[in-house]
Amino acid sequence: MDSELASETSLLPESLLLGVNDVDPVFEQNADGRSPFLFTSDHYGRRLPEKLGKLGLPDSELDRHIAWDIGIAGVAERLSKLLDVHLIAQRYSRLVIDCNRPPHVASSIPLLSEATTIPGNEGISREEAATRRREIFDPYHRRIDEAIDRRARDKRPTILVSLHSFTPVYAGVARPWHIGTLYHRDTQLPPLMLSALRAEGDLVVGDNEPYAVSDITDYTIPVHGEARGLINTGIEIRQDLIADQSGQRQWAERLARILHGIEATLFGEVRV
Ligand SMILES: [Zn+2]
Repeated sequence: MDSELASETSLLPESLLLGVNDVDPVFEQNADGRSPFLFTSDHYGRRLPEKLGKLGLPDSELDRHIAWDIGIAGVAERLSKLLDVHLIAQRYSRLVIDCNRPPHVASSIPLLSEATTIPGNEGISREEAATRRREIFDPYHRRIDEAIDRRARDKRPTILVSLHSFTPVYAGVARPWHIGTLYHRDTQLPPLMLSALRAEGDLVVGDNEPYAVSDITDYTIPVHGEARGLINTGIEIRQDLIADQSGQRQWAERLARILHGIEATLFGEVRV
């Protein structure tokens, strides 16, 4: 028995990055949620694998938007509960590996973010980069793939919504939008989202602002949304609006109402 176990264990890939004190990169909530929406959160967390220390950065930098999408975790979890949506999120900092970048682009493991150099990312070998991908990026995207596969097998629709937040000031320039939709090839969901957000009356709504989706600067929407033919959009909420729990709750409730209405428009009826 012992020898069988030992030989099975030896078949598992050895972890070179994540150790016993590190958490699983993938966080999931409502895996059996009944909603047609599927939420992803690429920049949900700001954990660092113990082996990487603090990437050579002071805590003040690791608190900033360069490390994660401030506030989005609280919005995503509440929204997922309100609408019974499966949420798949990634717990490690985007400074370790950005889960919304193709792994071959330079910003996947950034040497510079806004005006901050990342000492722990300087001079890393191809093997070290591949390890970050294998232990953090791949499990997260594999889980999204599996979830979409399972829904397709069960003949359930999937509307992919990628949840993000953006810093109110970037490189010294203030951003006026409260919220923005981000999209590229989908022509169904982004217009519905834009018109619903504009109908709120009190919001400055970004149409592909502060970012637009592209195959070079994004991964989740092009790969899981567009390549698989799913209705999809990204949503970006300004971080100062969701910095505390009260803001997160208000935005989750607002978006729950809006997405519920969009579901009714797309499917002609609302689930009971
Ligand atoms: Zn983000």
